Amino acid sequence: AYVVTDSCRGCRYTECVTVCPVECFHLDESMTYIDPENCIDCGGCAPICPVGAIHPSWQMPAGKAEWIAINKSRAAETPVIAAKLPPLPGADEQAKRLAS
Ligand code: SF4
Repeated sequence: AYVVTDSCRGCRYTECVTVCPVECFHLDESMTYIDPENCIDCGGCAPICPVGAIHPSWQMPAGKAEWIAINKSRAAETPVIAAKLPPLPGADEQAKRLAS
């Protein structure tokens, strides 16, 4: 499955939701999570994320492997997000920080 990492936290642009064919994104007040039971590994969401927060579970960046389990548990506890929402306040500033 694909996995949302902490780079999403505080941004939550939700572009990912517009491309996912199976509605496997869930969200809470700070970020999105992918339900690994539903993800079909299409890969559509990773390149569209403005902050590069999404990675395949078999290719996690160094130090981010814990997000595999976090996505699984948080997706089970949070509602599905089916349509894009406005990003969180401060998202553009955070995206710039992550890119620099
Ligand atoms: Fe959805 Fe495809 Fe991303 Fe999985 S890889 S979360 S199916 S868009």
